[in-house]
Amino acid sequence: GRSWEIKKVRTTCPYCGCGCNFDLNVKDNRVIGVTSNPSSPVNGRHLCVKGRFGYDFIHSPERLTAPLIKENGEFKEVSWDKAFNYVVERISEIRNRYGSDSLAVLSSARCTNEENYLLNKFARAVLGTPNIDHCARLCHASTVAGLALAYGSGAMTNSIREVRDADFILVIGSNTTETHPIISLEIRKALKKGAKLAVADPRKIELTGLADFHLQIRPGTNVALINGLINVILEEDLWDKEFVKNRTENFSAMQKAVLKYNPEYVAGITGVDAELIRQVARAYARAEKATILYTMGVTQHTSGTNNVLAIANLAMLCGQIGKPSSGVNPLRGQNNVQGACDMGALPNVFPGYQPVADPANVQKFGQAWNAEVPGKIGLTVGEMIDGALAGHIKSMYIVGENPMLSDPDIQHVQKALESLEFLVVQDIFLTETAKLADVVLPGTSFAEKDGTFTNTERRVQRIRKAIKPIGNTKPDWQIICSLAEKMGYRQMKYFHPSEIMDEIARLTPIYGGISYDRLEEQGLQWPCGDKKHPGTPILHKDKFTRGLGKFHAVEYHPPAETPDNEFPFILTTGRRLYHYHTGTMTRKAKGIEAIYGNEFLEINPYDADKLGINDRDTVRLFSRRGSITIKACVTDRVNPGTVFTSFHFTENPINIVTNTAWDPIAKIPELKVCAVRIEKI
Ligand code: SF4
Repeated sequence: GRSWEIKKVRTTCPYCGCGCNFDLNVKDNRVIGVTSNPSSPVNGRHLCVKGRFGYDFIHSPERLTAPLIKENGEFKEVSWDKAFNYVVERISEIRNRYGSDSLAVLSSARCTNEENYLLNKFARAVLGTPNIDHCARLCHASTVAGLALAYGSGAMTNSIREVRDADFILVIGSNTTETHPIISLEIRKALKKGAKLAVADPRKIELTGLADFHLQIRPGTNVALINGLINVILEEDLWDKEFVKNRTENFSAMQKAVLKYNPEYVAGITGVDAELIRQVARAYARAEKATILYTMGVTQHTSGTNNVLAIANLAMLCGQIGKPSSGVNPLRGQNNVQGACDMGALPNVFPGYQPVADPANVQKFGQAWNAEVPGKIGLTVGEMIDGALAGHIKSMYIVGENPMLSDPDIQHVQKALESLEFLVVQDIFLTETAKLADVVLPGTSFAEKDGTFTNTERRVQRIRKAIKPIGNTKPDWQIICSLAEKMGYRQMKYFHPSEIMDEIARLTPIYGGISYDRLEEQGLQWPCGDKKHPGTPILHKDKFTRGLGKFHAVEYHPPAETPDNEFPFILTTGRRLYHYHTGTMTRKAKGIEAIYGNEFLEINPYDADKLGINDRDTVRLFSRRGSITIKACVTDRVNPGTVFTSFHFTENPINIVTNTAWDPIAKIPELKVCAVRIEKI
């Protein structure tokens, strides 16, 4: 087509939490390409392969185009009216028979802030259930819990572009070049300017090739490692006494707890050389501006919250927080997982982390929503699944999530979902989870609606409607509003998502100054209290959100499963550059499938040799939960005794094998460690 026929619509990437901006190129109601938009505050001209080439899922022939109702095991296309009436009838029936607590809602880190807010309102005000959660439970629940305890707010403390000016970067449990490519560019910029890089990761990854220090830790030993760094910093008197005295509390409890974690003791637990631990501790403490970046290698453990608390201790001890290019920076995985948390798609808080346990908040939202709002804490994702199996949860409404591929012990998840009396799934594809549903409601992709996403640095940014909804689909916010209305609820009428944001701003202090007219170019970083507030690039500057930063005494505990004779290997899972989560979008993008269309299990040559496994052989991987088959990739990226793969591929559903054991505070499952056996087939 000629260029004048192409419309460019600026929007925000639907993949990772970096929140890159780009222009969708549109012709004849079709997205035909993606081009950079250099005015983006996050990425400038840069985009990774997913953002640039991952758009053709939008027009995939596999998109759902009409509502589906299952009859005698077969899906039939029906009208919206029929689908809505059926959903309302069945949910009302179940609520009348078993009560509101028998209902549960899974909200979506893929959907907009406005949609997450509405789902929260729908669950609490319309259905009357406290049971709402989303997949942050599987990724950063430990961050939300841990950083709230230590600092008072569970989000990235600094901004993406500050990384380039750091003198020292500690990356823990984050394969940044693959999972947050744009942030890894910032790391490279810092290295060019002379910054030092330490990477704590069980695998050799691209970043370890660039690093000055590779701490190749045994999976699940983060607390020991961080306590070891703190031990050295205290022992060698390298800590920031002024900061600790003026800005923190509970120091002595932490100090006592780390006494025994001398580098030699820690080396025994982590497998990292004691001298290396000393070097990294000194480099971190002596740096003028040191930043910590982390992801799932820290959070997805039974010790997830303790891992986060230990990191929070380290940053406070050295005064590396509340100033530019420093801080504690959890990199959020999904495009809007930060926003889904902010909007209260969590069982213990209303939007803006206003606790459900506080009666004043219950009253505030009850009044605003003109409904009786439950004042108790609801169930987490894992508790909903267990509840379904135990018979307490009778119906679930799942929006844009795919627990049948993403959640640990998939066979357990399947039994639970099959035992529900009624399952509604709202999605853009017939996912593994949607296949189990009684009703499937077809939502739209990010290209077909207006709204906002909040990226990992707390920046609220617009997505803009570029094309009309595909087929007979509806934007997810409209689906939720229609359902609410059909259930007799009168407070959910909006002409445009901007009105939903205005309501969010009225009820959510950290979003108080946010409105669409202010988001045009650069977005806004929360907290943003009023219409004049410029947004907050750096948290905890003069004081922590909670007042004083709080040290916590944390002890190392081994993972729930460790290798034994029957299951002698540790399996750790993660992600690949080319794919995205359960692959619902990237596996439909031809450009991406052509580059990376098969998955492998990484196994060290030493182990492969012992088991008689050659590169590309098919193996069977067993755990106490189940088994899968997968091709082997013989590589020294993993140490002997550890194997690795991703959870993107439905052909190799690795979460059949993983462990549901969870962290006692955050209830995040230990997806990063389980014990497995490997057999050549
Ligand atoms: Fe999209 Fe993330 Fe890639 Fe940026 S880095 S283009 S947000 S997937």
